[in-house]
Amino acid sequence: MKQRQVWDAVVIGAGPAGLMAAGELASAGHSVLLVEVKPSLGRKFLMAGKSGLNLTKDEPLERLLAQYRGASTSLAPIISAFDAAAIQEWAQGLGEALFTGSTGRVFPEKMKASPLLRAWLARLENQGVTWETRWRWTGWQGDDLCFDTAHGPQQLVARCTVLALGGASWARLGSDGAWSEILAAQEISLAPFKPANAGLVVDWSTHMQALLGQPLKGVKWQAGDICSRGEAVISARRLEGGGIYTVSAAVRDGADLSVDLLPDLSEAEVATRLARPRGKASLATHLRRAVKLGVGRTALLQEFGRPLPQEPGDLAALIKALPVKHAGLRPMDEAISTAGGILWSELDRDLMLVKRPGTFCAGEMLDWEAPTGGYLLTACLATGRWAGQGARRYLAAL
Ligand SMILES: Cc1cc2nc3c(=O)[nH]c(=O)nc-3n(C[C@H](O)[C@H](O)[C@H](O)COP(=O)(O)OP(=O)(O)OC[C@H]3O[C@@H](n4cnc5c(N)ncnc54)[C@H](O)[C@@H]3O)c2cc1C
Repeated sequence: MKQRQVWDAVVIGAGPAGLMAAGELASAGHSVLLVEVKPSLGRKFLMAGKSGLNLTKDEPLERLLAQYRGASTSLAPIISAFDAAAIQEWAQGLGEALFTGSTGRVFPEKMKASPLLRAWLARLENQGVTWETRWRWTGWQGDDLCFDTAHGPQQLVARCTVLALGGASWARLGSDGAWSEILAAQEISLAPFKPANAGLVVDWSTHMQALLGQPLKGVKWQAGDICSRGEAVISARRLEGGGIYTVSAAVRDGADLSVDLLPDLSEAEVATRLARPRGKASLATHLRRAVKLGVGRTALLQEFGRPLPQEPGDLAALIKALPVKHAGLRPMDEAISTAGGILWSELDRDLMLVKRPGTFCAGEMLDWEAPTGGYLLTACLATGRWAGQGARRYLAAL
């Protein structure tokens, strides 16, 4: 009878976390098979490249870690070991020239992911990593890993496994969260998935139709204790963009959202300027002349603030904290990322499942969330590397 191949490591999920883990294991000379359900590797990573591929945030470690609300302690050693500087060095080592924007966001100069992914896969291939695509992991049978493939069911034997199956948004790119049922059946506790970095549902009035597709800049969004000066875009039935994504976790958790249309002026200053004689000018003209409120911001004021108060002090207060009327977050599948996933209490220090020794987990499937700004990829790369190193230690001790 033909002997079955025993892999040192099978890494399931070929996003940034899985690729990182595969590289760590292969660089130690282990045989590594990377398995991916989609026809090609790194699809969400490539999608992230469409908006420029914000790889990390160049800021002091303490400030960076503070972005992982509720998980900063668990992630601290992992990200400290592969921080923003290490990520930049890693990307440069793959031939990517990088630049840092004025807010500290780090991007490849080419503003896309495909050259980096190509170089990364070439390196993995050189290290001996092989991969199978269109293979869906369906769980375990005993210690065997089970897959549905185009050629029927397959079972593999691995001395250790890294699961890097992503979150539960953009299912068409592969991250459908279906793995949560497999792990739940093993009595592994999970925090429910929730949309993170999501847009809002807004039923714009017909007055706003002319502004669809327009960016809103220079405003400040505030929800609970989170605020953002990021841009937003008025789109059909939605308000989206970095500024909204940043505050969306607080909105999701019940906070009211407001927008300061003139964040660089105090309320008193706005009131003083609005109190200037208006003459026969329309309110829109007065707002433009007195406080330089442009077309987009004036339309937003009318949309959410009508009927507008006439008294300058009341109008100033409204301009400084305009309640945003919305009907909740857009569906989870549209979110840039998801909160929820495997609870930290289910993992040991090496990101190994306590209930399934030899199985490590990494990336967005762990229970953390963070705003956009490079924090998502930072945690995925760092946890992938950490899980790969943990798996290496596990193999060495067998
Ligand atoms: C539009 C968009 C823009 C983004 N831009 C940025 C950005 O600029 N900066 C940033 O930091 N982050 C960004 N992100 C988020 C970032 O891309 C993700 O957080 C990151 O890709 C998650 O990495 P991961 O390896 O954990 O999972 P994923 O990249 O989701 O990879 C998981 C892989 O597992 C595979 N898989 C799932 N289930 C199975 C199964 N049962 N069997 C086999 N394979 C399976 C999937 O097909 C997928 O390829 C963006 C996301 C989107 C959608």
